[in-house]
Amino acid sequence: QTTHFGYQQVPVMEKASRVAGVFHSVADKYDVMNDVMSFGVHRIWKRITIDAAGAKQGSKVLDLAGGTGDLASQFARIVGQSGKVVLSDINASMLENGRQRLTDLGIAGNIEYVQANAECLPFADNTFDIVTMAFGLRNVTDKESALRSIFRVLKAGGRLLVLEFSKPVLPGLAPIYDQYSFKFLPFMGKLIANDADSYRYLAESIRMHPDQETLKSMMSNAGFERVTYTNMTGGIVALHKGFKL
Ligand code: SAM
Repeated sequence: QTTHFGYQQVPVMEKASRVAGVFHSVADKYDVMNDVMSFGVHRIWKRITIDAAGAKQGSKVLDLAGGTGDLASQFARIVGQSGKVVLSDINASMLENGRQRLTDLGIAGNIEYVQANAECLPFADNTFDIVTMAFGLRNVTDKESALRSIFRVLKAGGRLLVLEFSKPVLPGLAPIYDQYSFKFLPFMGKLIANDADSYRYLAESIRMHPDQETLKSMMSNAGFERVTYTNMTGGIVALHKGFKL
C-alpha cells in the first residue's frame, strides 16, 4: 500500500516495534529536541490546541500519546481538583519522563498515568469530555481502530483534537520543507541525541501520514461529526477537531 507521497507502507509489526525503539531512544532528549527541531514553535501549536479544546473546571481530559506531558500539564491546571487528566502513552520511557516532569512541576492529585495503546483503550465507554492527541496519531499502526477507540471513550458532546504534521499548502514551502526534513532533522538528531536514525524515521513518518482531507474523512468514518481542521505554519501542521454528538 502506498501513501499520497508515494511511499511504501511499513509492515504492521515492523512499524510498531520501530516506533517503540524510536521513542525509547529519544525519551531523555525529547523535550530539548522538540524545541530545537521546531525552533520553539511547537509550543505555539500546542497552545492553540489547548485553547481550541475548551476545557474548563471539572473537565475529564485524556491526553493520548501524551509523551512527556506538554498538553497534560496545561490541562491539569485548567480542570482543577474537581477535574481529571489522564496522561497516556504506549511507551513506558516516555510516560515515566512525563510523570517525573509533572511531579517536579508540582502537578498532582488530578492527574493519572496510564500506559496504553491508542488502538484499544482500557477505559469505559463515555468517560472523557476531551481527548487530545498531539503528534501521536502518525505513529499508530491502525489509525482507524485508534479513532474508533477514542470515539468510544468520549462522552456524548465530547470532542477529539488531533494535532499532527500534515501536508504543506503554502506555495513554495514543500521543497524547503523537504530539505529541512531529510537533511536538517537527521543532522540535528545526530548532533544533539547522537541518533540520526530516529529523526530519519520522524521525517518518513511525517511524509506517510494522511493529508488534511484524508484525516478529516477518517475521523468522519469513525463516527465524528462537525469535523474541521485548521492549518498552521503553512500546513506543516494541522489541528483536526471532531465531536461525538
Ligand atoms: N504528545 C506529546 C507531544 O506532543 O510532545 C508526545 C508526542 S511524541 C512525538 C509521540 C508519542 O506517541 C510517543 O510518546 C509514542 O510513544 C506515542 N505512541 C506511539 N504509538 C502509540 C500508540 N499506538 N498508542 C499510544 N501512544 C503511542
